[in-house]
Amino acid sequence: MTHGQQYLSEKVINLKPSGIRRFFDLASGMEGVISLGVGEPDFVTSWAIREASILSLEQGYTAYTANAGLIELRREISKYMKNRFEVSYSPEEEIIVTVGASQALDLAVRATINPGDEVIIVEPCFVAYASIVQLAGGIPVPVQTTAENEFKLQPEQIEEVITPRTKAILICSPNNPTGSMLVKSELEKIADIVKKHDLIVFSDEIYAELSYEDSYASFASIDEMWERTIVINGFSKGFAMTGWRLGFACGPSVFIQAMLKIHQHTMMCAPTMAQHGAVEAMKNGMDDVAHMQKSYLQRRNYFVKSLNEIGLDCHMPGGAFYAFPSIKRTGLTSEEFAQNLLMEEKVAVVPGDVFGESGAGHIRCSYATSMEQLKEAIKRMKRFVENLQVKA
Ligand code: PMP
Repeated sequence: MTHGQQYLSEKVINLKPSGIRRFFDLASGMEGVISLGVGEPDFVTSWAIREASILSLEQGYTAYTANAGLIELRREISKYMKNRFEVSYSPEEEIIVTVGASQALDLAVRATINPGDEVIIVEPCFVAYASIVQLAGGIPVPVQTTAENEFKLQPEQIEEVITPRTKAILICSPNNPTGSMLVKSELEKIADIVKKHDLIVFSDEIYAELSYEDSYASFASIDEMWERTIVINGFSKGFAMTGWRLGFACGPSVFIQAMLKIHQHTMMCAPTMAQHGAVEAMKNGMDDVAHMQKSYLQRRNYFVKSLNEIGLDCHMPGGAFYAFPSIKRTGLTSEEFAQNLLMEEKVAVVPGDVFGESGAGHIRCSYATSMEQLKEAIKRMKRFVENLQVKA
């Protein structure tokens, strides 16, 4: 045992480190690598947003904001949720501004989950979900979506794992890592089961602005779901603001005020200059968002078509900026495929099984990189797959 280990909490000792990190560390020591590994936009935050933030510093807004966030920002978020998703939240009671969607998720879970409560998580999924639940003393109960269903949650899968201890379900649409998006009719079927079993829902909608089908719906907009749902969203993906660390949660006052109680003791407030930038993002940033969405869409269409052409079967993802092709026909595991592709062709992808059991046999490729890089990545991946066939 390393000295100091004996002082660590059991919760931390039992936590699994993120499987993505290891690949970044490997790739960062190499030259000429094309990275399809990172889950973030390749755009710089628009100048107007940066300028608004700079201006706030020039004007001396350097103190804490209200714990729940600048009221001006909460008002903008309220309008945004209404205009974009047809859901109403009061800026005073039903919205909290957080340090990324990450903190919003953490607060939502900690405010509602008691030790031993079970939370259904839908794998493959964002690597933090299980850890967030475990840190709150809850038990993550995974259900596995599969390639046959384009990685879309089937409502009956929820019923199969329900127990008297099931309290909540965490859903994410559009999804990281699969890009799958649940349309309104599919959400309605999930809502029936949520209601039947009296569950609450953590709905991670961080990729809402990056959906490519008209039928996107916020889970809170589904009949009778508003009162059971905490919507998690933020500025990282749609507004290309990952480094600003700004997100928000919306929900019934009872949930948001409970989250605020934790937030005011553990975080005080989200960064002030970032909040000033975000006001500008909400007021005038939607054209930029639409422009970026269109650009991802073009890249999705090229990249997914090309993956299929080189023999890596991939469903057409409805949102986010990830493709999740199967590599099963190569006979390699996800780990071997990703490792060898990096070593032989210098293309970094993430093995699918780090996102959950049913991610095995798949890799996650982020296409949030230039078209030129994507074309070169496809060229290299094609060569890699062809060489495998020759060896076999
Ligand atoms: N949820 C999902 C599904 C994500 O992919 C990410 C970021 N990779 C987050 C939440 C966290 O986002 P933020 O930067 O706002 O903390």
